[in-house]
Amino acid sequence: MNNLQATQIKALKAGIQGEVILPEDASFDTARQVWNAMIDKHPAAIVRCAATPDVVHAVNFAREQGLRLAVRGGGHNIAGSAVCDDGIVIDLSQMKAAYIDTSNRRASIEGGATLADFDAAAQVHGLAVPLGINSTTGVAGLTLGAGFGWLSRKYGMTIDSLESAEVVTAAGEVLRASATEHPDLFWALRGGSGNFGVVTRFGFRLHPVGPNVLAGLIVYPFAEAKTVLQQYREFTDQAPDELSVWTVLRKAPPLPFLPEAVHGQEVVILALLYTGDPEQGKTLIAPLHAFGKPVGAHVGVMPYVDWQKAFDPLLTPGARNYWKSHNFSKLEDGLLDAVIEYVGKLPSPQCEIFFAAIGGATTRPAPDAMAYAHRDARFVMNVHGRWDDPADDAACIRWARDYFKASAPFASGGVYVNFLTADEGERVKAAYGQNYERLAQVKRRYDPANLFSTNQNIQPA
Ligand SMILES: Cc1cc2nc3c(=O)[nH]c(=O)nc-3n(C[C@H](O)[C@H](O)[C@H](O)COP(=O)(O)OP(=O)(O)OC[C@H]3O[C@@H](n4cnc5c(N)ncnc54)[C@H](O)[C@@H]3O)c2cc1C
Repeated sequence: MNNLQATQIKALKAGIQGEVILPEDASFDTARQVWNAMIDKHPAAIVRCAATPDVVHAVNFAREQGLRLAVRGGGHNIAGSAVCDDGIVIDLSQMKAAYIDTSNRRASIEGGATLADFDAAAQVHGLAVPLGINSTTGVAGLTLGAGFGWLSRKYGMTIDSLESAEVVTAAGEVLRASATEHPDLFWALRGGSGNFGVVTRFGFRLHPVGPNVLAGLIVYPFAEAKTVLQQYREFTDQAPDELSVWTVLRKAPPLPFLPEAVHGQEVVILALLYTGDPEQGKTLIAPLHAFGKPVGAHVGVMPYVDWQKAFDPLLTPGARNYWKSHNFSKLEDGLLDAVIEYVGKLPSPQCEIFFAAIGGATTRPAPDAMAYAHRDARFVMNVHGRWDDPADDAACIRWARDYFKASAPFASGGVYVNFLTADEGERVKAAYGQNYERLAQVKRRYDPANLFSTNQNIQPA
């Protein structure tokens, strides 16, 4: 392990208003943990920044000392790119302030905020941007990878609402990127992940949402999986942008609205949110209750912020996780057969396969309008291997990889950069798709020495 020399520690601490956490500190082991317990990295120092000048100082320090650098937003990335061995971690978790300008429907939010922080601040005013499904995720990593969630069919990817960013570059400069200021950098930030600098503040355009929405779950027995999924496919083809219905196949958690006999049995879950008038939504979703004989349903009008946290209990930090992901433009029968085969042999009670139905507004911008290229993706699939005991590592990883291979012939070729694991280096170019070369040019301009390399890395051209 590369411990810093006393003189280096003095120089680092001298410029930091926040906290510098070193391996000998009691809080170090907690501070280096990320969401995925498979990740076990030992940095030389964790700099918990209080404000942008701390970030500038830490970037300059890492560059001048030739140290590896990692940037932590919410610490959720499956690949563990929020931490590194032997280098400096810039931890933004204390920089969470949000300012909402209600008259112009704009938000300014710091780079360490979680989705819960952002939703809470904006929903007081009935406003929101599309964010992901687990409220402890960081706004920063999600946004820089493109971001999608329940509102995306209506309002697009998260980046489609991004208007500006304050960025600390590899040279330690603080720049503002927008359509008119450093537009090449602004283009690259919208899907190019953490390759271009540390974003200390994001500026978003907000949309009217809720605060109450129609949302919930309809659960079908696994025996009906094929016909339910086929009807789901037809239904989502016709659904308006206001309605998002995702599918999750897994063993049923012990949810109170499910009969006990169903707990632990494989099920097909339709999870939905309707952003329009809830009464109209109820009529619209009626067919979803009639795809077969549901074993339970829990759908109703609820605060949007509650729905944004509904999956948190299933996605707590500290479990071992291994993911595989494909994008699909349609769900072919052969794919449905493969899903059913592999959900029939889940290696742990927490493993699941889900299809996030995006489409709608996410498909309308041109693929080169910003760095995120996969405007053809209508379904983002995640094979979510999740378990607790390291003894199950091999079986769970094998299951995820085998199903990933079985489903590959039906995929559209691209992959969501935020779902790539650490061992998928060969898929990084596919994640940036047709925009990779242009991203490499922007990388050369803003980070020619590849200081920001602990990520799904773009090599400077
Ligand atoms: C349980 C769970 C559910 C998820 N659901 C969704 C979903 O519904 N929709 C979706 O789109 N994604 C989803 N994701 C994926 C998520 O978007 C990525 O894991 C994302 O990278 C998390 O961002 P973070 O800030 O928490 O991560 P971190 O691990 O902190 O960072 C991720 C990457 O971004 C970089 N980074 C972080 N902050 C900054 C910053 N301020 N400036 C520059 N670079 C930075 C890091 O260096 C790192 O490379 C989910 C992830 C999990 C674990």
